[in-house]
Amino acid sequence: MHSPIFSLEVFPPKSHTPVGTIYDTLDGLGGVDPDFISVTYGHGALQDRSLTARIANTIRHDYQIPVVAHLTALYSDKKIIDEALGMFHQAGVSGVLVLRGDPVEGHAPCGVFEHSSDLAAYIHEVDPKMKIFGACYPECHLEASCLEVDVDNLAKKVDAGVTHLITQLFYNNDDFYRFLDLVRSKGIDVPIEAGIMPARSAKSINSMTARNGCKISPEVRAIVERWGDDPSSLLQAGIVYASEQIVDLVAHGVDGIHLYTMNRPVLARRIWANVESLFAVN
Ligand code: FAD
Repeated sequence: MHSPIFSLEVFPPKSHTPVGTIYDTLDGLGGVDPDFISVTYGHGALQDRSLTARIANTIRHDYQIPVVAHLTALYSDKKIIDEALGMFHQAGVSGVLVLRGDPVEGHAPCGVFEHSSDLAAYIHEVDPKMKIFGACYPECHLEASCLEVDVDNLAKKVDAGVTHLITQLFYNNDDFYRFLDLVRSKGIDVPIEAGIMPARSAKSINSMTARNGCKISPEVRAIVERWGDDPSSLLQAGIVYASEQIVDLVAHGVDGIHLYTMNRPVLARRIWANVESLFAVN
């Protein structure tokens, strides 16, 4: 039996935060032993395009942890992608997570890559050795008419060269198991990591689930209602809930867990302390 993958996600510090704060995040993750850390690509990619590569470089070389760089399609043309791939190679990335990104009001997309599958196909053509990751949605992507259609589109991503998938956050494992059955029934057989985002505040849960079209499970809703005004109890309950989700997923043979750290290392550390032994190499 293979032990599941355990990966983390961090984001580049927001524009009003000094870039150096990423060191606080990475230092704070000390003791956690991920197979890789992925670094998001600035919203709409309208920010400093080199930031993801610079942080990837730090993770790879200063912290000696394998790293995956996210890259978005909508606001990129071929030259931008070629430059990003060059920077990612210099940073020593293990792979690229291709994403469409979301349209930004008032900014017209480049019109070169419409979907993540277009970006995957391009990278597969110009950089065939690059490992390509993609995103998937257990509760269906917001814009897809139904899960079946979304999974048919997911198959196009895999056909275009994606060999590893990471899911959107979800709070109900049964949604993930239903999705997995459908995906496997369509012949998609690449590894799928389950995306786990610990509940940490009422505001963040409401905005993340609304923005991503995810349901809040009755258990998480109860946690938020009970401890919405008590941040430390909410944090503790969120850590326990996420840990229990992970235990159940690993017991069901999940390929991997991708923990959205939200640059809050204490969450990752405490969850890791609860589940570490489940990821021991057999
Ligand atoms: P796509 O795969 O293009 O899918 C978008 C919609 O189009 C879906 O409804 C799908 O069914 C449909 N579709 C897909 N392919 C086709 C096709 N070939 N033909 C017709 N229809 C198709 N955003 C960022 O800006 N930066 C990040 O770093 C980032 N990281 C993320 C990491 C993860 C793990 C996840 C789950 C999301 C991330 N996002 C990020 C958000 C992501 O950009 C949005 O969810 C976006 O709305 C969809 O991206 P996608 O790559 O899944 O798009």
